[in-house]
Amino acid sequence: MIYRTPDYYSKFRCIADKCRDSCCIGWEIDIDAETADYYNSIGGAFGKRLKENIADQSFILSADDRCPFLNGRNLCDIYTELGEEHLCQICSDHPRYYEWFGSVKEGGIGLSCEEAARIILSSDFNLTETEIQEDEDELCDTELYDLLLNVRDKIFSDIKTLSLSDAMCSMLDMASEMQSGLDNGELDIPEHPRNIPAESPDKTAIFHFYGELEPIDENWMPYLADSKNYIGQTVGSPEKYEEYLKKIGLYFIYRYFMKGVFDGEILSRVKLAAVSVWMIGHLWQCEEIKTGCCDMNKCAWIAKNYSKEVEYCEENIEAILDASYELECFSVQRMKGLFEK
Ligand code: SF4
Repeated sequence: MIYRTPDYYSKFRCIADKCRDSCCIGWEIDIDAETADYYNSIGGAFGKRLKENIADQSFILSADDRCPFLNGRNLCDIYTELGEEHLCQICSDHPRYYEWFGSVKEGGIGLSCEEAARIILSSDFNLTETEIQEDEDELCDTELYDLLLNVRDKIFSDIKTLSLSDAMCSMLDMASEMQSGLDNGELDIPEHPRNIPAESPDKTAIFHFYGELEPIDENWMPYLADSKNYIGQTVGSPEKYEEYLKKIGLYFIYRYFMKGVFDGEILSRVKLAAVSVWMIGHLWQCEEIKTGCCDMNKCAWIAKNYSKEVEYCEENIEAILDASYELECFSVQRMKGLFEK
């Protein structure tokens, strides 16, 4: 099987006690059956502690939502006592994610971890392929897969070589025309997609929509409401974020575009990428207006928060994909207006 990842995937190392928003706090952690059996087989004092702190194959979180094995120095006692190889699947994977397309597996690191976010923003985006020994997944539609792969490569190339504004507008045009073709059973890459005229964006409506999503962190909604007050304001040169925003665009397209092979939906996923680029860019601008600085670490932190709220709640991702068809503020015309100068 071919295993494809961005080059930067292998750079990731959990920063453990230096992490300011540990994934061991605030999340239910399910333990896979094999690891649960192993934990059950451990004797002695640590075995007793494992049994007392696991119920229904999940860690019993403390009153302040911490994993019971995250110690006072924010290090994992299971890692220390049993070794990294005995972490459960979720703990050893996070923030890595995977998707299977027949004989191809794709992997990456998720933006919801601050260290991963720093790597994503500071690294060139190039893909690496290796051969791995793993059983093939259920076959996907190979004709559609090849087509989408070509289109994704074209989008990657546009993001890397064009201005952010041109790349976002061109991928929206391309996805819009391709989606019409796919809906009519046509498997073609439009050679010259129609340049859909941009319309004035409705940024307030986009914020209103985000304000109705399911919040993960209690601070997110007040933060978002405050950021809405800065719509229309810019400081310094917004172009300085362009290279980082391109990395955000590449990340979202890499992670979500090929899922279209399973349901024929590409336009909504391209809009998810575009609106995420715009929102994160706006939040960076707000940070600079409010504090006078939004350096790389702050950019990574804000992108991490956005990803945690949006990507790590399935209902929120679904809501954005649905809204991309249902709400006028997500029409291709209005979304192009977000980027056109
Ligand atoms: S969020 Fe990332 S850096 Fe922080 S504890 Fe989890 S994996 Fe480690």
